[in-house]
Amino acid sequence: AKRGGVRVGWYDAARDLASTDRLSLLAEVREALAVDDQLTLVLQPAVRLGEGGGVTGVEALVRWNHPRRGTLMPDDFVTVIEHSELLGDFTRYVLDRALAVAAGWATEGLDVPIAVNLSPRSLLDATLPADIAALLDLHGVRPDRLVLEITETVVMSELSVIDDVLSALRELGVQFAVDDFGTGYSSLTFLTRVAVDEVKIDRAFVRGMVESAGAAAIVRTTVDLAHRLGLRVIAEGVETAEQRAVLTALGCTGAQGYFFHPPMPPERIVEVLHGLTDA
Ligand code: C2E
Ligand code: CA
Ligand code: CA
Ligand code: CA
Repeated sequence: AKRGGVRVGWYDAARDLASTDRLSLLAEVREALAVDDQLTLVLQPAVRLGEGGGVTGVEALVRWNHPRRGTLMPDDFVTVIEHSELLGDFTRYVLDRALAVAAGWATEGLDVPIAVNLSPRSLLDATLPADIAALLDLHGVRPDRLVLEITETVVMSELSVIDDVLSALRELGVQFAVDDFGTGYSSLTFLTRVAVDEVKIDRAFVRGMVESAGAAAIVRTTVDLAHRLGLRVIAEGVETAEQRAVLTALGCTGAQGYFFHPPMPPERIVEVLHGLTDA
């Protein structure tokens, strides 16, 4: 499979990175942030389950078309960036690209929210809300068309700067999604702390629910909780018709995964959106 081929490159690169200088990778990241075609976004639609089945939103996922290492996946390099002084530049780069894509949709009459993954650490940056406000302004994108996907982290419980950043972003009018819900990274208390709009059920539960009554119960309970709180819910990593059927039976109303659409380049997604959008 194509993805399989990419993964091979990924593992080679990971081994490479472990043994070579982290600083040289960061130098390459700095270079990539300065040029045009190395760090790119692929886009994956989320769909409504049930009749209609239209696209309700699109998630941006970063890829690094490295001049020597091949295509690198985010798990390869985002952690290194997160622990460096390049995080702010990287976050703004991704937001800028994503909002440029969303602005392009608007000119085609497509009104679909775009979701961007934020490193939890970027919430420690007090300038983030102003940066996002400026980027929304620059691209002419309405704040509620931007969904920030975040996971919880231990530092969150300790630092009040995060509450300030979150409430400033709230005031701006952007939306929040809790990513990887149900894992150690996103807990129940997080839902109330952040006042989220959307819950994304981690794909581990989706993978497990067909065979495990426990995983199915967690999915059902999360769906129920989300709906009681008035939140949208999306099951991640849906790969089969059987998983779709189980999700529908459990009351889940939104889904994302290879079964519906793979992540795809910006040119391709416009065709999908023209065909399927109901947002
Ligand atoms: P995530 O936010 O949970 O993103 C979903 C991941 O699942 C993506 O992997 C996506 O390609 C993959 N996926 C989608 N559908 C399926 C499916 O049906 N089956 C399976 N097995 N996988 C599926 P990807 O693109 O490798 O991203 C991995 C993680 O890297 C993301 O997990 C997110 O946490 C992080 N990430 C991606 N882009 C960015 C970014 O721009 N900034 C930051 N800070 N993190 C990012
Ligand atoms: Ca995500
Ligand atoms: Ca996720
Ligand atoms: Ca994740």
